[in-house]
Amino acid sequence: MSGINPFEMAQRQFDEVADQLALDAGVRAVLRRPLREFHFRIPMRMDDGSLKVFDGFRVQHNDARGPAKGGIRWAANETIDTVRALATWMTWKCAVADIPLGGGKGGVVVDPSTLSETEKERLCRGWVDQMWKNIGPRMDVPAPDVGTTPQMMGWMMDEYSKLKGEYTPGVITGKPLGGGGSLGRTEATGYGVIYSVREAAKHLGIDTRKTTASIHGFGNVAQYASIGFAEMLGGTVVCVACWDNQDKTSYTFSKDDGIDPRFLMSITDQYGTIDKAKAKAAGYRIEDGQAWIGKDVDILLPCAIEGVLTGETAEKISKRVKIVGEGANGPTTPEADAVIKKRGIFLVPDFLCNAGGVTCSYFEGVQNDMNFYWSKDEVLKKLDDKMTVAFHGVLDMATEKKVYMRNAAYMVAIDRVVTAMRLRGWV
Ligand code: GLU
Repeated sequence: MSGINPFEMAQRQFDEVADQLALDAGVRAVLRRPLREFHFRIPMRMDDGSLKVFDGFRVQHNDARGPAKGGIRWAANETIDTVRALATWMTWKCAVADIPLGGGKGGVVVDPSTLSETEKERLCRGWVDQMWKNIGPRMDVPAPDVGTTPQMMGWMMDEYSKLKGEYTPGVITGKPLGGGGSLGRTEATGYGVIYSVREAAKHLGIDTRKTTASIHGFGNVAQYASIGFAEMLGGTVVCVACWDNQDKTSYTFSKDDGIDPRFLMSITDQYGTIDKAKAKAAGYRIEDGQAWIGKDVDILLPCAIEGVLTGETAEKISKRVKIVGEGANGPTTPEADAVIKKRGIFLVPDFLCNAGGVTCSYFEGVQNDMNFYWSKDEVLKKLDDKMTVAFHGVLDMATEKKVYMRNAAYMVAIDRVVTAMRLRGWV
């Protein structure tokens, strides 16, 4: 990610708000770094009989408000610092969404597309074998993220249940339907992005039916954000940009009169790579991977990975853009924030904008505990309510304190986490 250390970025964002809040030095020291970190190695027999060892991580940043919560990423370039940053953002995300959970994140240094299905299963079980004593429904609850899937969550839940000697669906969320998962979880992050964009547009007096959007990514979040933008808000998505696993580069797939997200999903593989030949045949223009940033649109939705909007690339943002909604975690560097702020673009910051996934994960855990499952409509209605309340809590803070939306989101989140730590006598 363009030489930016995401953990330093998370700390810079936190420090700026800690200064604005004149946060006590001791409290600041507790929150600047994760409470616990696990680094381990997972030996695994490959299908060809050879033995390989994979590096694994789990970071529990803060669990004052409830069990640590957050996904597990499988990526070839995973580092302890990306996991630390993502765990930290999970603490703020759960607090801003006001769900009773803390922040955690896990990772494995591996490109999942190089593994067979049986190797993936063994690696999932291997991760749990290393971590099972330090995760659990009342301790730390993992979930999917970039490079991991509901099926993998199912294997991990099974391994944990076997080691514990009892069926424990609440140890992990994002499980498949029929395997303890919740209806709506697949759509939740992308739809959550759209609920926040809807509220932002209302606030700015923008009719979304007349707007266009450019989206970075075409994995789980971007797919449902595209569907939601077109189907719920009546807007036009003019392009999506995604990584091509064969060519090891990224492309922007454009159609000025609007992409068809469901068609594109039908020609996308499990790693988010769109079939170029089929897209071309259907009239899509295939452009450079960075082209999405400079599109002449009203709304930009970075929904893939961290660090894509830098001081340099943010200068390419069209004058027409009025809203940036961060579906990804950490897509905007502090230098890009300065550009967005100066231009007066309305930002819906990541840990608010993409909180729909973890909020639905929380609903999944609640349903697992009750052993009673809600309908999809019920889940999505509860999700919309939670996201809308969270958005307005942050907007009210931004209006009252006259601060940037990211800083306002930090203020709401830090206040809730510090309150929980105080009430528990930690600080
Ligand atoms: N990985 C998702 C995120 O970054 C979801 C986490 C969860 O459901 O626990 O928010």
